[in-house]
Order: sequence, then C-alpha cells, then structure tokens
Amino acid sequence: MQQNYNVKTMLVLKFGGTSVGSVENLKKVAQIVESFDEPKLVVLSAMSGVTNTLQKISNLLKSNQVLEAHEEMDLLHQKYKKVAQELFDTNNSFYDANVMINYNMNLLYEYKETDFTDGIEKLILAQGEIVSTNLFQLLLQERESSSTLISALDFMQIDKNKEPQLDVIQGRLEKIISNYKKESTFITQGFICRNIANQVDNLQRGGSDYTASIIGAVLNAKEIQIWTDIDGMHNNDPRYVDNTFSIEEISFDEAAELAYFGAKILHPQSIIPAKERNIPVLLKNTFKPDAKGTLIHNAAKTNAIRAIAAKDNITAIKIKSYRMLMAYGFLNKIFEVFEQHQTAIDMITTSEVAVSLTIDNTTKLNQIVSDLEGFGSIEVDSDLSIICIAGDIAQNKKGITAKIFSSLQDIPIRMISYGGSNYNLSFLVKTSDKVSVLNLLNQGLFLNTTVASA
Ligand code: ADP
Ligand code: ASP
Ligand code: MG
Repeated sequence: MQQNYNVKTMLVLKFGGTSVGSVENLKKVAQIVESFDEPKLVVLSAMSGVTNTLQKISNLLKSNQVLEAHEEMDLLHQKYKKVAQELFDTNNSFYDANVMINYNMNLLYEYKETDFTDGIEKLILAQGEIVSTNLFQLLLQERESSSTLISALDFMQIDKNKEPQLDVIQGRLEKIISNYKKESTFITQGFICRNIANQVDNLQRGGSDYTASIIGAVLNAKEIQIWTDIDGMHNNDPRYVDNTFSIEEISFDEAAELAYFGAKILHPQSIIPAKERNIPVLLKNTFKPDAKGTLIHNAAKTNAIRAIAAKDNITAIKIKSYRMLMAYGFLNKIFEVFEQHQTAIDMITTSEVAVSLTIDNTTKLNQIVSDLEGFGSIEVDSDLSIICIAGDIAQNKKGITAKIFSSLQDIPIRMISYGGSNYNLSFLVKTSDKVSVLNLLNQGLFLNTTVASA
C-alpha cells in the first residue's frame, strides 16, 4: 500500500471476540472487511472465550495441575480443529489451518510447570490472537481477497511503565507496510505487544481496542472502527439495565470517562491515542452492520447527560488526622505513598479532618496502609463501585445534580466527586447497591423525558 500519511485514507477495523467467535461470524467479518474499498488494517481479538481458557491453562500450570491444564489444552485443540473443518471449503486451506493450529497447540503442550514465569503466562495468553488472525488470513486467501498478515509482535512496543511507545510503533509499522506496496488489506493481532525486555507482553484484558486506537493514531487513519456485538455505546450498562439505547455521537472526553469508569465496550485507555491525534472512532455492530452505531469525535458536544457507567472492585482508604490535615504538604506526602507503590488513585475527597481516596489495584494495599499509618488513623472499605455520569454536568442545566441525587432515594453514598472535569460526576456506593443505582438513574435521568432533553 502506498500510504501518504498526510492524507487520511486508511481505515482501522477492529473485531472483538464475539465477532470472530464462530465460523458463521468469521464469515460475516470477512464480508464486512471486503465491503470497504479503502486501504485498511484489520485488528482481531482471540475467538470469544479463548483468552479466558488460556488464562485458566496458565493458572493450572502455575499451580502444578498439569493434567488439568492438558485437559483444557485438549478441549481448545478440538475447538480449533472443528472451526477449521467447518470454515474452509478447500483441502489446501484446511490443511494449512491444521498445520498452523497444531504448531501453536504444540507450543502450549511444551510449557512445563517447573520454573513457570510471568513471561510464559504472557506467551500462553498471546496464542488466542495469533490463531484467530492466522485463521482469518487463510479465510480471506480462500475467498481470493488479497491480504497480508503482519505480526503485532514486530511493531507493538510498550515502555517500562507499560505505556505504548507511539513513535517506535509508528516507525516500525510504516516500514513494514511500505514493504507491500500493492497490498491494501493488512491483518494483525490486537492485545499483544513486546515489552522493554523484548518479551511478549500484552495491553491488559480487552486490550485489542487499545491496539486499534494506537494503530489508528500512528497511521493517521481516516477512522478507527470498533466492531463488536452491540450497536455502539449505550446510555447505561445493558448487562444490568433494560431499556438502554445507543448514543449516536459522543465526545472523546465523555467516551474516555465512560471507558475508564467501566463501560466494557471500550478498554479503559483505548480512547486516548485516538483523541490525541484526533482520529474519529466509530463503534459498530458486526451483527447489525446497517445500524448507525456511535461516532466518537471532537465536535460532539452535548448539553445533556450522555451516559452512566460503573466500575467495580473499588477500595476506599480514609486517613483521619486532626493534627496534620490542614498543614501544607500533607496531601503531597500522602500522594507520595501511592506513587511509591505505583498505585493510581481514582477519586479523592477531603474534609478538615480526613481525606478519602479510592484505588482499584489492591496488590500493594498492605504496604500502602502501613506507610499511611504514620499520618493518622486509617480505615479501609472494600467491595465498592464508582458510578460515573458523563455529559455536560458542569452547566447543571435544569438542576441535573438535583435530579441525580433525588433519583437515588435511600441509597447510601460514600463519596462524591464533582467539578474535577466538566463532563463527569462520579460517586461511590456499595457494589451490592450498584444494579439498583444504575436502574434508578436510568429511570430518573433518561426515561423521564424532561430530564433526558435537559
Ligand atoms: P468485544 O469482545 O467485541 O471487545 P466486549 O464484550 O469487550 O466486546 O464489549 C461489548 C459489551 O460491552 C457489550 O456486549 C455490553 O454488554 C458491554 N457494555 C457495557 N457497558 C456498555 C455500554 N455503555 N454500551 C454498550 N455496551 C456496553
Ligand atoms: N483477547 C483479549 C481478551 O479477551 C483481548 C481482547 O479481546 O480485546 O481480553
Ligand atoms: Mg472488548
């Protein structure tokens, strides 16, 4: 492909686990990919359920349960073989698929429980995307659609903080693409990458969205399309709330808040690269390709509430100190503890005698608490959820904040964060109250038409 990077020509098309999760769906994806005339880079997830299975295999090996791990491997092998049998019409493609599947399965069978490392876990987890992309490449080849499979491990790079190295990725990807001047369809793996030690690593669960956004940003794509199993970003979490609806357009900032605070349709960091380089992101439904979906772009502004999301597994830490809180430098000292233990803070509220913070990564909780004990008395609360309301909150038109809290009736609220940004109001509740809160807010903010059009 001869790509002029100043002109936005390229499409990045990402298909998630369900979209590539069966023979029927893989064929749908092939049709969608072939329907675009533009040059394109297709990013695929593992088939649905496969990364979970690989994680299970890895956990079993880690705990010396080799027989059980091999039973899981056998099941995965059979699943892949069945897919190959049904996916291909020609013996050649079927044969090539089996060679590829056997090769990747044999790699798994060779891992031993002894000296099992994190690096081996990452290698095991990478197999799902490697197999799905190879199957898809063979499928397009059989359909006589020209395409080239490129390995994400040859260009996706993260740094020591696990952040993508956009410049490095850009340089490598442009070089790879320029080797195939006549090709206009590339296929690559989502999720997987190399780390600073050049080992196989990944962008965390759900990371294929992030891969697509990074690639779209570095190639200055015309658009990044995330194809999934729902018709775009909904106004509330469809897993817990009935009567949700798809949002036609949304700003980068709002989408980023919702993704970070639990809207599973997007990986938490995935909007950032697209936003930074102003590449529109279109969320589409593989099973309803004609549905509009959701366009995430800069121009999308609202004067209403857009959507609600919830993030689970939140822990709150309260530090009470009568002596020190009002002293300057006190908050700084507290933040240093979190920095030292590389733990991000999601929410923070202060009073004259206490400061409350929330975290979602509790791997260093004990050390954090013990370091904080020098500052005052510490209380830790777990099993909490952050509820995030995104939209034009700051304007507070028609008393939006009053509507929010009056919708919640008797639900106890542990913390509130308002004013940190113009498009987010978030608060902390017990996870056991989450489903009620999402439903009450849906009723109060969206099904009540006077508020929805606020
Ligand atoms: P993929 O495998 O394609 O990456 P995901 O399962 O990661 O798909 O994301 C799609 C799912 O996200 C939907 O099926 C839906 O249940 C869930 N979801 C949660 N919140 C939202 C929301 N606000 N809008 C749309 N989908 C959501
Ligand atoms: N396959 C990976 C996962 O299941 C990445 C992704 O699907 O986005 O988390
Ligand atoms: Mg996903």
